[in-house]
Amino acid sequence: MSEKISALRSIHSEAAFLSENGYYGEYGGSYIPEILVPAFTEIKEHFEAIRQDDAFWQQYCALLADYSGRPTPLTYADRLTRHFGRARIYIKREDLNHTGAHKLNNALGQALLARKMGKTRIIAETGAGQHGVATATVAAKLGLSATIYMGREDMERQYANVFWMRRLGAEVIPVDYGSQTLKDAINEALRDWVSNFETTHYVLGTASGAHPFPSIVAYFQSIIGIEAKEQILRSAGRLPSRVYACVGGGSNALGVFQAFYPHEEVQLIGVEAGGQGKESGRHASRIAFGEGKPGVAQGYKTLFLQNNEGQMNDTFSIAAGLDYVGVSPILANLSERGRIQFSAATDAEVIEALEIVMKTEGLIPALESTHAFAGAFRDIAESSKSDIFIVNMSGRGDKDIFNIAEGLQDEEWKAFIHRKNAQFEA
Ligand SMILES: *Cc1c(COP(=O)(O)O)cnc(C)c1O
Repeated sequence: MSEKISALRSIHSEAAFLSENGYYGEYGGSYIPEILVPAFTEIKEHFEAIRQDDAFWQQYCALLADYSGRPTPLTYADRLTRHFGRARIYIKREDLNHTGAHKLNNALGQALLARKMGKTRIIAETGAGQHGVATATVAAKLGLSATIYMGREDMERQYANVFWMRRLGAEVIPVDYGSQTLKDAINEALRDWVSNFETTHYVLGTASGAHPFPSIVAYFQSIIGIEAKEQILRSAGRLPSRVYACVGGGSNALGVFQAFYPHEEVQLIGVEAGGQGKESGRHASRIAFGEGKPGVAQGYKTLFLQNNEGQMNDTFSIAAGLDYVGVSPILANLSERGRIQFSAATDAEVIEALEIVMKTEGLIPALESTHAFAGAFRDIAESSKSDIFIVNMSGRGDKDIFNIAEGLQDEEWKAFIHRKNAQFEA
């Protein structure tokens, strides 16, 4: 445990690249309403304190171990490796976390931070609903009350998650204005926080937003890479050649990448949602397609998909969790520094990669995570047998059954849905 803590210290001192005022190079910062300044000051102070507090990290790791099932395994994908006949592929299994993805690492850490600050209530925004479910789950476990904001449109698309959040005891509030999606939910959560920050902590779901949220989320997700590095050294006796992760806001990617920053020989590749391709305009690739432009929104500066007037574009992806206009300021900076490369996988490539992973390894990755596989598969032809690839499987895919069945154009599934529907109407 103490080794883990010192690993963590070195990661965060060597590689956070954070300037005094909360910027990562030109990105980041804190563009917040005056009224929230005390809330942010309080969070910064407590976050600083817990980073120096081994007991806090130990409590966090113990809860992750006994409640969420960490450490998650690093699985050697022998059949997948043979399928391509090149680099050896290892899979970091974040799908095995409680609630099925890496999101719990952050939700649990921030809920503990909230308790440390004496808060009794947590609030969150959610798009696809995964972060909402993780937040509702930890609220129940730690005895906090929870309110989750979600766009009405997203609630329709991800109703199963709404059902579970409510059953877990959280209040889910539909957001009825704007595009009724994630960015409107963020605005509504901020509005709530402005009136209630004395009792309430805002559990932001990804490594974006105003400083210090990107640092906080990256910190709580860094457990992924700390484990993965230890595991690959143990099982392969050496560091990987490349590490792949999908990038929505950037939290699972930063989580797995951070431990490898100091090892320049390890290439880090973030894979964005290429949707229907660059030409179609229907995608969510801010960096790989070179289309994100610097701007300030939602409390921070980063590369946003926006038009020349600074209006945010509509984004598109088969994977709801990658469908976001901004990107972590930490990733925007690391991309400019050349430390992280970016590529984008299209929906069609993702569906193809998914079938390969399911049939060779018996794993069902989330559509988000399948982008990381698709990115690795594209590069693998140029690798050699002595290379090692790690793919971060950020979550499991059972939640995506409707989208996957549609993507695979599964006629039997369609017939089943029709029968179910007919039962309800009868
Ligand atoms: C939410 C989610 C993502 C995208 O979020 P990041 O902050 O970029 O990690 C990726 N994979 C899964 C399974 C998710 O639930």
